[in-house]
Amino acid sequence: MAEVIAIANQKGGVGKTTTAINLASFLAQAGNKVMVVDLDPQGNTTSGFGIDKNALEGDMYNVLLDQLHPHEVALTTAYHKVVVVPASSVLAAAEIELVSSPQREHRLKERLADLAYDYIIIDCPPSLGLLTVNGLTAANWLIIPVQSEYYALEGLSQLLATVQRVRQALNPSLDILGVLLTMNNRTALSSQVHKEVKRHFPGTVFDTVIPRNVRLAEAPSYGRPIGHFDKWSKGARSYKNLAKEVTARAAHKKAAV
Ligand code: ATP
Ligand code: MG
Repeated sequence: MAEVIAIANQKGGVGKTTTAINLASFLAQAGNKVMVVDLDPQGNTTSGFGIDKNALEGDMYNVLLDQLHPHEVALTTAYHKVVVVPASSVLAAAEIELVSSPQREHRLKERLADLAYDYIIIDCPPSLGLLTVNGLTAANWLIIPVQSEYYALEGLSQLLATVQRVRQALNPSLDILGVLLTMNNRTALSSQVHKEVKRHFPGTVFDTVIPRNVRLAEAPSYGRPIGHFDKWSKGARSYKNLAKEVTARAAHKKAAV
C-alpha cells in the first residue's frame, strides 16, 4: 500500500508546493514509484513539473467530480517517472460543487484506493476547505511546512483542530509525520523561530531544515524539480536529505505502532 502524504498549511506561501515537487522527485530518484496529486487550483505543482496547466485534457476537477480515474488525467514526467495528477483553475469550482455531493470528504480517498505506488504526495491549497479536507482524509501522513518567520506559529492551532476533526470523523489513520522548517535564513530570528516551533511540537520537527535558497525559487520557472535544475545547490541537498528522513521516519513510526 502506498504511503500517502498530504502537505498542508492554510497559510499561503510557506513552501508546500516547493516541498511537494522536490520531495516527490527525490523519493523517485531513490527508486520509489511516486505520484503527485495537485489539489490546488493555482496548479503550481503542475507547472513546477513543466506541465502546461492551460493545455490539460482533464484535471483533478474531473477526478473529484466526474468519476475519472486519476490515470486518465495523469501525466508521466521525465523526472524519474514521477506521475502528476494535474490541477488548473477549473478545480476551484470543485470546492463549491463538492458541498452538495454525497461522501464529499471521501472523494479523493476513493479515487486513490488500490493505486500501485510507493508514495503519493498531495499538495494542498492554502485553505482549510473541502479540497484540503479531501487531502487529509486520503492521507495517512501529514507534513506541515512552516516558514521561518515571526508569525510562523500563527494559524497552526486552527490547522491542528482540523486535523483532529478529520481524525475523529473521517480518517483515524491520519498521523503527523513532521513539521518542516522552510526558507530558513542563518539569522537570529530564524533560529529563534526554530526553537519556538520545536518547543510547540516536541519530537515532531524534522532534523532537515530547508534553507532560503534562490535556486529553489528559480527552478519552477524552468518547469524542473531542483535535482534537475541545480543538483549541487543547498536547496537540492536539503530536499534530498528530507526524502531520506521522510522514508526513515515513516518506517520507524509504522514499526512503533
Ligand atoms: P501557496 O500557499 O500559494 O500554495 P506554498 O505554500 O505552496 O504557497 P511555495 O509556492 O512552495 O509555497 O513557495 C512560495 C514562494 O516561495 C514561491 O515563489 C517559491 O518559489 C518560494 N520558495 C519556496 N521555498 C523556498 C526556499 N526554500 N527558498 C527560496 N524561495 C522559496
Ligand atoms: Mg502551493
